[in-house]
Amino acid sequence: MDLYRDNILDHYQNPRNFGHLKAAVAKAEENNPLCGDRIGMEVKFKVQSATRWTKFKVIEEVKFYGEGCSISMASASMLTEKIKGKSIDAVKKLATDDILEMLGIQLTPTRLKCALLALEVLQKALVKL
Ligand code: ZN
Repeated sequence: MDLYRDNILDHYQNPRNFGHLKAAVAKAEENNPLCGDRIGMEVKFKVQSATRWTKFKVIEEVKFYGEGCSISMASASMLTEKIKGKSIDAVKKLATDDILEMLGIQLTPTRLKCALLALEVLQKALVKL
């Protein structure tokens, strides 16, 4: 339990992949008015060949920016690490449970909105890909 909290605090204080991409292919922004969290995500993908005939898109680079509470920022930071190199289809399928598992702590419904904001923004950015 404390390990998870330390990890969240660490990501909040030292956010990974924070900032902007030089050449973002997809981007989105969203906010959570209940808490005042605001997150933007920028994504760059590349096309990979699975076999000679099938290709799929994978996340090559991702950055986030914004401001908010520790849960929203830590969730965004962890998510950017989690999805690097993953296929866009796999990222589109991520759901609430994946975020809860990633954070590893129990959340109240209000805090859950903070935790899910990053995923919401990310999936909004990827919707047209
Ligand atoms: Zn929040």
